[in-house]
Formats: sequence, structure tokens, C-alpha cells
Amino acid sequence: THFGFQTVPSSSKQSRVASVFTSVASSYDTMNDLMSLGTHRLWKDHFVRSIDPGIRDCAEGNGSGQTILDIAGGTGDIAFRVLEHCTLVKNDHASKIIVSDINPDMLAEGKRRAREGGYGQSGRLSWLEANAEDLRAMPDNSVDLYTVAFGIRNFTSKPRALREAFRVLKPGGVFACLEFSKLNSRLLEAVYKRWSFGAIPLIGQLVAGDRESYQYLVESIERFPGQEEWMGMIEEAGFLVPGVEEGKGWEDLMGGIACVHKGVKP
Ligand code: SAM
Repeated sequence: THFGFQTVPSSSKQSRVASVFTSVASSYDTMNDLMSLGTHRLWKDHFVRSIDPGIRDCAEGNGSGQTILDIAGGTGDIAFRVLEHCTLVKNDHASKIIVSDINPDMLAEGKRRAREGGYGQSGRLSWLEANAEDLRAMPDNSVDLYTVAFGIRNFTSKPRALREAFRVLKPGGVFACLEFSKLNSRLLEAVYKRWSFGAIPLIGQLVAGDRESYQYLVESIERFPGQEEWMGMIEEAGFLVPGVEEGKGWEDLMGGIACVHKGVKP
């Protein structure tokens, strides 16, 4: 591949990932919309609805809300949706969300959006700059729900990130992942590959003035394991995968362009 990540030491993968996201932070929304033709919003809405976060009619201040950790939370896309779902769908005014990301520029953009969107004052959002593979700021068994959307494929060691997810979750806690995946149809795959390898780096160049970062993003999607293999890795980390008995261990979105995987800590 262009950057040859398979052969470079992990620290340089990490700094490469850091510079990619520093470079995309400010144009992040526009680029997501263009690259996915707006569908990332629908996937994120669906992801949050399918997790159904929050506790029904949970009043503020009684200490019984959920602790939710949004990993690689970037600019807050998932966290804001989770907060809205808790409040508006569940009438939950107590659950709290920690948005965690390795990149301070993405977090800064998220904080700015939280202020502008009116989420800043609620006291229910907090921010943590951390590597998902080393969540030492988070105690064992402290989290009810761990979410990660379009983040995990960038991690240097996915097994390490899964081990950390398992450690911080409470027994019964849920790991939920939304990520690009593998298409189910050869024909769709051919169309999709032309789009991603052809158009996305070009859009990156024209809109964000940065072809290489978007080339990297496309390649990272290509390298991420398929649905079955990824589910196996989640199981290997100790999680029970709901639906696996019925052969539904994951949920494909748009024929597998993206996919939702879940795991429950026993
Ligand atoms: N979850 C957000 C969303 O869906 O819009 C952001 C996704 S963005 C494509 C990927 C994020 O992963 C970036 O903000 C990046 O900084 C973060 N990231 C990459 N490697 C990470 C790591 N090892 N630990 C934590 N976050 C990481």
C-alpha cells in the first residue's frame, strides 16, 4: 500500500493516524457528507437507535443513570445522538457520556460543537484524551455502554482495544461498534471500489486540499477484517455476541458498506 503500514512500527502508524485526523478535523463534517453521500448520518442514527441507550424515566441526580463511553468519539457525532436518545426517547436525564479520542484537535472540534449545539452546559458530557488501547483513566467495571463508530479500524492493535473495552465494561455491559465492512455482492463491491479508490481521494484533494489523508482512510477500510472475522475477534476478547446462535452475529447496513457488531460482557 501507499504507506506500507503493515511493515512500519506501530508508533509511526499512530503518528500517521494522528496527523490524518489533525488535518481532517475542521473539514470533517463536509467530507463525511460528501464521501458517504450523506448516509453516515443515517447509519449513526440507526446505530444509536439499535443500541437504545439510557434508562427509562431516569431522573437527574439519583445516581442511577448509565455511564457511557464513546471511544474515538471525535467531534461528538455519536455522543450527541446518544444524549438526545437518552433525553428524548428514554426520558433519561441522568446518564452521562464520556467522549474519548486520541486526537486533541478532534476533541476541540467536538467541544466547540457541544457549546454551539447547547449540549455544553448539561454536565452530562465530558471529554477524555486517551488512546483506546490504553484506557488507564477508566477504572475496571465502570462503564455500562462502550460505543465506537468508524474508529476501530484506525487502531494499531484491535485486540488490545477490545481487551481494554472488556476491562472497563461492567458485567452485563455492552460493546457496540459501527464500522465499514465488506459488501455482500460482487457487483456492488465493484461499484463501491471505484467510488472509494477513485472519487474519495479526489474529493479529499479538491475539498480538503489533502489527498493522502483520504487515500489512507480508503486503504484502512480495505484492510479492516470482514464481518465474520471481526465478530470472532470480539468473541476472542471474551464477549458474548447476541444473535450469534441464529447466525445473526452482526447487522449489515446498505449491503455491508457498514456494519454493526455488539458484544456483551458476561
Ligand atoms: N466516532 C466519530 C464519528 O463517527 O464521526 C469519529 C470517527 S473518526 C473517522 C476516527 C477517530 O478515531 C478520529 O477522531 C481519531 O482521532 C480517532 N482515533 C484514531 N486512533 C485512535 C486510538 N488509538 N484511540 C482513540 N481514538 C483514536
